[in-house]
Amino acid sequence: MPHTLSSSRPEPICGMDTWMPVPARILAIEQENFNTWTFTTRFVAEEIRKIYRFAPGQFNMLYVPGVGEAAFSLSSDPAEPETLAHTVRRVGSVTRALERFKPGGLIGLRGPFGHGWPMELMRDRHVVIVAGGIGIAPLRPVLYTLLHNPDYCKRLVLLYGCRTPADRVYASELEDWENNDAIEVLVTVDNADSEWNGPVGVVTNLLRRIKVDAKNTIVLVCGPKVLNRVAAWSFLQLHVPPDQVFVSLERNMNCGFARCGHCQLGGKFVCSDGPVFRFSDIADIFAKEDI
Ligand SMILES: Cc1cc2nc3c(=O)[nH]c(=O)nc-3n(C[C@H](O)[C@H](O)[C@H](O)COP(=O)(O)OP(=O)(O)OC[C@H]3O[C@@H](n4cnc5c(N)ncnc54)[C@H](O)[C@@H]3O)c2cc1C
Repeated sequence: MPHTLSSSRPEPICGMDTWMPVPARILAIEQENFNTWTFTTRFVAEEIRKIYRFAPGQFNMLYVPGVGEAAFSLSSDPAEPETLAHTVRRVGSVTRALERFKPGGLIGLRGPFGHGWPMELMRDRHVVIVAGGIGIAPLRPVLYTLLHNPDYCKRLVLLYGCRTPADRVYASELEDWENNDAIEVLVTVDNADSEWNGPVGVVTNLLRRIKVDAKNTIVLVCGPKVLNRVAAWSFLQLHVPPDQVFVSLERNMNCGFARCGHCQLGGKFVCSDGPVFRFSDIADIFAKEDI
């Protein structure tokens, strides 16, 4: 089985200890929309490039010298681990500093951290991916992997929602996937413009347009809190068992390996028990907290 179809966790690559980032050079920067960029990077040291591996859904801690560090999902193809992409939305100090970088700039990376998506469970199943906005970033490695191995799952569906057509991330890839028989792609927007011919409304409305074989479906969800909540519950209402629904969560984090406690959620650490959780494992936290 190729490593990308396994949920095993590759060892993190770090400096002298797990807190220390390793230099990586920015090779390319692609603007996705008005506040989001995809940074393609490569470790400076060849020996690190040779051993670094990641599983779909894992994240790196990305360090901007003199500014700070934040968690970003790996959004590139795990089958090509020598170049790593992170898709970054501008919200605060680290992301604003990144926005000023040009190709050739040096940043620091450490990782990969966390539990990714359950690739093994997808074999011979129907896989329904629900993403909102930049929530598609940690799901892109799943899409690449399943599209490289089109016979691995029985059916692959992507339901993607954004505020407006201009907010879409990976717009040209979405168009390619729409023309690929190996995947069904449905994109909806909250607010259409004059050129938009597709569905309008929240992403869960798209569920009316697909038939869900509840017993055989694995659901992967990543988006804003409200989407995670509504999407997970919508699939439960369609009788998808709660242990077949997986949600990727975000929490402010510092270390990435369950030492600092910043990302603790009930008895779990989002950085190491997650960020991908089985819904049945967090249903009680979901019911109580705004996650
Ligand atoms: C496992 C994991 C994976 C992640 N993957 C990605 C990714 O692929 N791409 C990405 O862009 N981000 C991702 N994030 C979120 C990213 O780590 C945060 O947005 C981070 O705080 C940005 O750092 P900053 O210094 O720019 O902002 P900060 O200085 O930390 O935040 C500044 C302000 O923005 C607010 N803020 C922080 N995060 C968010 C948010 N997510 N939405 C809205 N407001 C926010 C804060 O409340 C604060 O007011 C991920 C987080 C986790 C835990």
